[in-house]
Amino acid sequence: MDTPKTYNALPTPKMGVLSADYLEQLAAVVRKYDLPFLKITSAQRLAIAGHDPADVEAIWHDLGQQTGPTKPVGIHYIQACPGVQWCKLGRQDSLALGEKMAESLGSMPLPAKVKVGISGCPMNCCEGYVRDIGIFGKKKGWTLIFGGNGGGVPRIGDVVGEGLNDDEVIALAGKCLTFYAEHAKKMERTARLMSRIPLEDLQKALV
Ligand code: SF4
Repeated sequence: MDTPKTYNALPTPKMGVLSADYLEQLAAVVRKYDLPFLKITSAQRLAIAGHDPADVEAIWHDLGQQTGPTKPVGIHYIQACPGVQWCKLGRQDSLALGEKMAESLGSMPLPAKVKVGISGCPMNCCEGYVRDIGIFGKKKGWTLIFGGNGGGVPRIGDVVGEGLNDDEVIALAGKCLTFYAEHAKKMERTARLMSRIPLEDLQKALV
């Protein structure tokens, strides 16, 4: 029988931070279901491919999930680099900010999916200029970028705030997303919205 062309992102701990327990659970699942392909995605999640479609729910169950990961219309994922906690170039705590952002804005209803990349320094390893919401740290605080996209029609996002602390950058990101929710067409990504309207419209809304 040919290997099935199935592909699923697995439930993965927040921001791709792994533990020995999770890896052992995962290794047991890979062996039990004889999974032929396992991959870390660009969204810092794990994906499996080539499995029997009938096994999907059992695989999720064995990983401690009642249902599979959802693909929300709203914040789709938050990427964060190791930041100041683990990287010698880090200037700000990207992992902690990712947690706070998920709590504050994670359930906000939005017109389409929103990808967030948070980097602890201007090296921007989480590619904030091509994320709907991009954030990177400098010594004096966070820089916020809005409206980027790295897909088929790339767009470099616009810097909308600098020198922000954790609460300020989350509040400003929330204002950007509120503007997006009020002005975008259904399923229109932030980059397409910002390509068809003047940046000044957003800037006025953020004042
Ligand atoms: S963005 Fe900076 S802090 Fe984050 S992993 Fe890259 S170099 Fe390190």
